[in-house]
Amino acid sequence: MILRRLSESVYCILGGEKEANTGFVVGKNGVLVIDTTFSPYQATLVLKVIRSVTQKPIKYVFNTHYHSDHTFGNQVFSAKVVACRQCKQIMSNLLEKEWSKESIQKFSEENPEWKEKLANLKITLPDITFDEQYEIDLGNLKVNLRHVGGHTMDSSVAYLPSSRVLFAGDLVFQGRYPYTKDGDVSRWLSALKTLQQMDFKILIPGHGFLCDRQELDHLIGYFENLLENCKRFIQENLPLTEILKRNEFFRFARRNVNRHQENIRKVYFQLTQGEKVEN
Ligand SMILES: [Zn+2]
Repeated sequence: MILRRLSESVYCILGGEKEANTGFVVGKNGVLVIDTTFSPYQATLVLKVIRSVTQKPIKYVFNTHYHSDHTFGNQVFSAKVVACRQCKQIMSNLLEKEWSKESIQKFSEENPEWKEKLANLKITLPDITFDEQYEIDLGNLKVNLRHVGGHTMDSSVAYLPSSRVLFAGDLVFQGRYPYTKDGDVSRWLSALKTLQQMDFKILIPGHGFLCDRQELDHLIGYFENLLENCKRFIQENLPLTEILKRNEFFRFARRNVNRHQENIRKVYFQLTQGEKVEN
């Protein structure tokens, strides 16, 4: 975990190669935490880092989306959890099955490295939900939350106009191919174009290093290229096995080529079978 101070009151904790990033904003009246890692164990470490900076009460937690590596540490902060309405809905549904006690137990047994870290997990749902936008007022500064969808149907971002900082959650993967399995590429692309219109100078991606709008532009280019070329190859009746090998995509190369191939498959099936995971 690497702590970075982005402005007088905005911080992020980089999760490194494997973990998601988290952030926190220290206002006059208290602290807002943005995303909470994959386990109570890691979230406790995040809390320690926050306490090395401020003793103010942690008032709010914001979940950028439901994915477990952004929400499973919620319980640690004993604060009001804020997320968009879909986030709470999806989390409630997951509690019935994929996130049931039995399923988590099974996961821990199959992944012993997580067993201890997840031992006291109590999945904590959002208390406050919003439809499209929400404003968190920390006294001297305001944080705008905005639901945009794309990476998942509930994907949302946090924007601080006063310091021009944007927490983009998993809408932006820095330095690696994006993970599209639970999302919708067309919607993701339009979400990124919405972010492009915003006035920010620092972008905190869900995974990877701090970046700026260049990374956003790159990702927009990647998705446009992916959609355009997949459409064209399908029209030319190229089989998926051939499309996967095409070098038209290489201009936007990043790490983790398996994920890129998953993204081609995702778009291919969406275009050929009308499979639509998202709204
Ligand atoms: Zn995610």
